[in-house]
Amino acid sequence: MRGSYHNHPGYCDGSGTIEEFVTAAREAGLAAVGVSSHAPVPFPCSWTMTLERFREYVADARGVQERWRASYPVWVGVELDYLDVELVPAADVFQRAQILSVQLDYAVVSLHFVGRDPEGRPWAVDESAESFARQVDAVYRGDVQRLVEDYYRLMEYLAAWARGLGVPVVVGHLDKVKQWNVGGRYFSEAAPWYREAVERALRAIRGADIPIEVNTAGLRRPIGAPFPSEWILRRCWELGIPVTIGADAHQPADVAAGFEEALKLLRSISYQEILVLGQGRWHTASVW
Ligand SMILES: [Zn+2]
Ligand SMILES: [Zn+2]
Repeated sequence: MRGSYHNHPGYCDGSGTIEEFVTAAREAGLAAVGVSSHAPVPFPCSWTMTLERFREYVADARGVQERWRASYPVWVGVELDYLDVELVPAADVFQRAQILSVQLDYAVVSLHFVGRDPEGRPWAVDESAESFARQVDAVYRGDVQRLVEDYYRLMEYLAAWARGLGVPVVVGHLDKVKQWNVGGRYFSEAAPWYREAVERALRAIRGADIPIEVNTAGLRRPIGAPFPSEWILRRCWELGIPVTIGADAHQPADVAAGFEEALKLLRSISYQEILVLGQGRWHTASVW
């Protein structure tokens, strides 16, 4: 009863056809698959779809969904950026008019953009290790705590925003801001300020009554841990925040990457259920 809902076929920075993701999901023994290419943003960005590409993507995905309708659930979603109103004032209008208007099946709601680069463009925290280092220095004058606290404050706003989107949502890679904190080079997750920032974000997510994903992409990166970290996931369980498992696959072969590890982790934390997507809402399924 497992589904994989955070996948990037070759319409944004991913690769492979939607059909190849379906084949890979079936071969991995998954019960359903969803595609979530990076939704367009109202400013130049190299890894999101253009509006034209987005329309092609939705048409293609709906076609694949239709072909499999009788035998295998294929869901059509996007990974949708939370864009703070101070950063991109017209983002909400743009997303509602251009993206959510096409009646998607679901959305992975993610935070990538915090602050601006020297050219004034929104700056993604996960672009590269070099880019993150420059962001800490150029925008935050070396004060990584302020960057991280800004990130989690935006995560609180994301929660309130996401619940009103009108489609089932799941919060993507909750602690993505740790991606380049390999070996704790920037901060300690045990620091009280870090724990408090995370806690406020978790309470906002709980308050919005939306799930998060256990994103296994971190296991395939230098950080070597899922998003979010185990202690955060434990706190999610205590707060009653439901979860999905997401591979954040950028190629069909990764559609179920790390799923067994994620399930083992969830069971060890006492999670009994994960979510699977149905028409218009999440349902629960056993982790066993
Ligand atoms: Zn993402
Ligand atoms: Zn993604």
